[in-house]
Amino acid sequence: VKQYQHLFFIKTNRTFSSLKRFSWTLVPVIAVGGLFWPKLGLLMVPIMLTIIVMSMLRGKYWCGNVCPHGSLFDNLLLPFTRNKAIPRLLQSNFLKIGFFAFFMVMFALRVSRVIGSWGTLSFYDKLGFVLALNYLIPTILGVTLALTVSSRAWCSICPMGMMQQIMYKVGKLTRLTRFTDRKIALTQPEQCHKCAKCARVCPMQLTPYQEADHHGVLHAEACIRCGTCVAHCPAGILSVEHVRDLAAAPLTVPAQRQAIEAVLISNEEIALHTRELFFQAEKLKKFNFQPGQFVLIRLFEHLEMFRAYSISGFDGDRGILRVTVKLIENGFGSEIIRNEFSIGKKFLLEGPMGEELIVDKTARKVVLIGGGIGITPFLPIVDELLESSPPPAITLIHGAAKPDELYYHEYFQRLTLQDSSFTYLPVVEAGGEAWAGSVGTVITALEEVDLSDSNVYICGSGGMVKALRGALARHGLPEEQVFAESA
Ligand SMILES: Cc1cc2nc3c(=O)[nH]c(=O)nc-3n(C[C@H](O)[C@H](O)[C@H](O)COP(=O)(O)OP(=O)(O)OC[C@H]3O[C@@H](n4cnc5c(N)ncnc54)[C@H](O)[C@@H]3O)c2cc1C
Ligand code: SF4
Ligand code: SF4
Repeated sequence: VKQYQHLFFIKTNRTFSSLKRFSWTLVPVIAVGGLFWPKLGLLMVPIMLTIIVMSMLRGKYWCGNVCPHGSLFDNLLLPFTRNKAIPRLLQSNFLKIGFFAFFMVMFALRVSRVIGSWGTLSFYDKLGFVLALNYLIPTILGVTLALTVSSRAWCSICPMGMMQQIMYKVGKLTRLTRFTDRKIALTQPEQCHKCAKCARVCPMQLTPYQEADHHGVLHAEACIRCGTCVAHCPAGILSVEHVRDLAAAPLTVPAQRQAIEAVLISNEEIALHTRELFFQAEKLKKFNFQPGQFVLIRLFEHLEMFRAYSISGFDGDRGILRVTVKLIENGFGSEIIRNEFSIGKKFLLEGPMGEELIVDKTARKVVLIGGGIGITPFLPIVDELLESSPPPAITLIHGAAKPDELYYHEYFQRLTLQDSSFTYLPVVEAGGEAWAGSVGTVITALEEVDLSDSNVYICGSGGMVKALRGALARHGLPEEQVFAESA
């Protein structure tokens, strides 16, 4: 796994409150301005009081939503960070407590030196200077760690962070947090893809999907409640929940999704960077697969990390399952699939999962829209619908950047000739001279479709799904008739 470690952490947009977006401006004001106009350093007094009160109520909420240094790291330094794993030493209690004690002693010594001038006009300037200096030092250390390790590496040892953890314990002991605290929770743990995206985007490098308790609640005191994991979870199962509600929530019992040991029996390239993988179940178990569902494939033995792939073909009698994978350059899973998925190797599959694309069999008209590799779930769906009697009127729109990304183009063309209930509308953004078909996007292709009384099923990127929902609403299609899945 080590050789893929550098691909693990994802530089991605952090979630911002409006305060966090601009609070970084206080850093130069206090840390630099305070050296020249020392009274600016006194701004630290209300800041520290706020930190103390806030942490008693909501743990390290300040760090993730208000802190000027955090805002500086997430707003300005993220693009330049090396985004490496924060060394264990920096995360150790030994270093955190030692650094906190050292910082506090130095701070107390400096304050004791100015306390003698209490009552004089220069007292506030001297105190302001000490406070500004105490803001400048973390700025220098924090920026250095952000650039050389990870944007929030400083936060692991920040004395203010340690102080918040101590005050949080006070809040918990006095039961104050019961009324005020909010925590990250997996609302439906049984729907977790175990993809580790929450861990890959977490600025504190926590692993919410693994650290959560059996109720799905993350208790880690290092969590800064920033919500970045919530925004990026592909299953949409993470949320920030009030602890009061969590205490009242019933215990969720994970659904019995199947774990199947399977052998990779074929791994063929069908287009540039696109491969068909065939798995043969070791023991022929009943696999309750429905067209439109996906399966989770464990990337490595002993590594609790899976990737979700739509099932693009299934032979129940022989226990063979097909997925079609587009390999992404420098994708963590893609690189592992490229290098480690050899024929004959055993893998753990979990599933099947996903309800969004299970087509309502009673529908009279069905419109299926796939973007790029999002065509994969529609292969078994089209086959199943064409077998029903009578089949509904099926329109399949496949949008791609260029013609060689119209996977299964010939197959769908053949189906159009064979079956009058099936219409295939491929569309590409840039066709080139050899392409005689439609040029445009899935939205422009919609113009050719009679959408009245149709159920529409979409699979593609989040952006495509959002744009299509808007376009379908403009065409007058009720929201309840639109179903979508995105990666
Ligand atoms: C339900 C479902 C079904 C799917 N079906 C298929 C399928 O049939 N075929 C298929 O090929 N794929 C499918 N996928 C996608 C698949 O699961 C993987 O996400 C995909 O293979 C890429 O994984 P990776 O680990 O290689 O890439 P990653 O390492 O996860 O990332 C790929 C690239 O995207 C960037 N990135 C990733 N996440 C973020 C983010 N949050 N913000 C900013 N940048 C980011 C990374 O930096 C990198 O450049 C499906 C996903 C889901 C959720
Ligand atoms: S599905 Fe969501 S909670 Fe589960 S591992 Fe992926 S990002 Fe984390
Ligand atoms: S677990 Fe989620 S909310 Fe907590 S620090 Fe990590 S990304 Fe932020």
